[in-house]
Amino acid sequence: MDIFSRILEANKGNNSDSFCFDDSEISDMLLEGDMAFPKTRNAMKCLNDYCKWPKSPSGQVEVPYTIASDFYDDEKAVIENAMKSITAKTCVCFVLRKNQVDYISIENLLGCSSAVGRSGGKQQLSLSVDGCVSHGIIEHELLHSLGFHHEHTRSDRDQYVQINWQNIPQASAYNFQKKDTNNLNTPYDYSSIMHYGRTAFAIQYGKETITPIPNPSVQIGQRKEMSNIDIQRINKLYECGEHITHI
Ligand SMILES: [Zn+2]
Repeated sequence: MDIFSRILEANKGNNSDSFCFDDSEISDMLLEGDMAFPKTRNAMKCLNDYCKWPKSPSGQVEVPYTIASDFYDDEKAVIENAMKSITAKTCVCFVLRKNQVDYISIENLLGCSSAVGRSGGKQQLSLSVDGCVSHGIIEHELLHSLGFHHEHTRSDRDQYVQINWQNIPQASAYNFQKKDTNNLNTPYDYSSIMHYGRTAFAIQYGKETITPIPNPSVQIGQRKEMSNIDIQRINKLYECGEHITHI
């Protein structure tokens, strides 16, 4: 199956086999390892706190952003709605950039990708109009920009999922490497919007790269909306305190 059929397939629904064309996947396949996007990601362990977005005295965390002018209005609305969904449940809000030095520049580039956390200066968040402008995928990329890694790479993942290395092309193996993450005392979350689907990056279409253990039939890889634990983690990382969640 070629890449475009796979994109169509991936966008059919939010079943457990759907997978996100995330990070460098499209660049791996189309650009043969083009390094347009950083492959090395900051840990959620934020030693100097710079990788977190700063909190204003009011207790709000303001993340400045710009949206490229080549998105249509309805696409912009989907992007802004995803931002609002985060704001509604946390103390993080997204503000149009005025003159802030550090900000997220949302652009229609190749694939869906984001740096993890605040990286300093302008940081691109790519949402290709061919497959990335959907609520769940945008939330996923925004969560990267807030400092979150993929769920299946967290430090204790080996107790919860098995990585089937034999089904993963070597060039994509870095997407499955375990990270030294700060798990914020939250349980492993199969339903996290940051979890890959079971066939993500498979060497052959349909082969499983991630299998939940001990129950292999647990659903993973949803891209509908943030799970309750995803929301809890934002509130913990940014110490949102008593912020009331509207669910
Ligand atoms: Zn991702």
